[in-house]
Amino acid sequence: MQIARTVPEVRAAIQELKKRRGDEEATVGFVPTMGYLHEGHASLLRKARSENGIAMLSIFVNPLQFGPNEDFSRYPRDEERDLQVARDNGVDLVFLPDVSAMYPKTVKTKVAVAEVTDLLCGASRPGHFDGVSTVVTKLFNIIQPDRAYFGMKDAQQVAVIERMTEDLNVPVQIVPCPIVRESDGLALSSRNVYLSGEERRQALVLSQSLQLAEGWLAECGGDYRSVKALIEAHIRTSPLADIDYVEIMDYPSIRPAYDLPSTELEGTRLLIALAVRFGRTRLIDNRLFQI
Ligand code: AMP
Repeated sequence: MQIARTVPEVRAAIQELKKRRGDEEATVGFVPTMGYLHEGHASLLRKARSENGIAMLSIFVNPLQFGPNEDFSRYPRDEERDLQVARDNGVDLVFLPDVSAMYPKTVKTKVAVAEVTDLLCGASRPGHFDGVSTVVTKLFNIIQPDRAYFGMKDAQQVAVIERMTEDLNVPVQIVPCPIVRESDGLALSSRNVYLSGEERRQALVLSQSLQLAEGWLAECGGDYRSVKALIEAHIRTSPLADIDYVEIMDYPSIRPAYDLPSTELEGTRLLIALAVRFGRTRLIDNRLFQI
């Protein structure tokens, strides 16, 4: 497995990999991450490995997508362990830039996707998705992957990246991948390490409420506000849970389902999306429903 830390290094390594295989047409499957890899990331790596001649991973904690009071400086990092996970999952090349390799100058150009970013995490974390779409555009331009793999754990991010690549004619196929969960239902996240034992136990209300929502949705007759209220009430049964948002949106447009005429909703998908704080840790989870 090769490791590249600068833009020229990674570009040269991709060319060399293609040449060495004698296959200039080998496709590149790319998994962008912020590291501290877990089984959710590994599932993306395995899919990229199985569908492409060359499997690539990037690890970059992107300062541009963190707000001033967020956890950029304390975001968990473990390069050695991440490289082992990459090797174990058949990665050919890891791109591990530092901040100066990605942003040698002050950033004056940003990529911003309108509307899809207005609500959910876009509302709670101003500027977050501009940071995401800017860094992903840069990574796509540097690596020029054929396919890029993203987890539905960050469903709004998938909608944003799909729209960005479509609007800008970026020649990459976005591959959304299912959420990987612990056996008790908690969605895997690098941030789960911040949780105390009690917070970890109470955090199960997220996945539980999404499970319960399936029945509530089936019975609600289109009254999505009542489903939202039931979910909020269930989450509040955990005293440590501090709700940031509970929303029901159409997907991938990310418009509130409550006010949309049923004709607009027919045949689309509903996204139930949750963001809840436990102490200093903000967790997100979601589920998509066909309607
Ligand atoms: P991150 O390192 O948190 O930026 O995540 C990198 C990629 O892994 C993103 O596409 C995430 O959606 C995806 N990911 C994170 N957690 C999970 C999970 N539990 N299941 C599936 N994909 C995930």
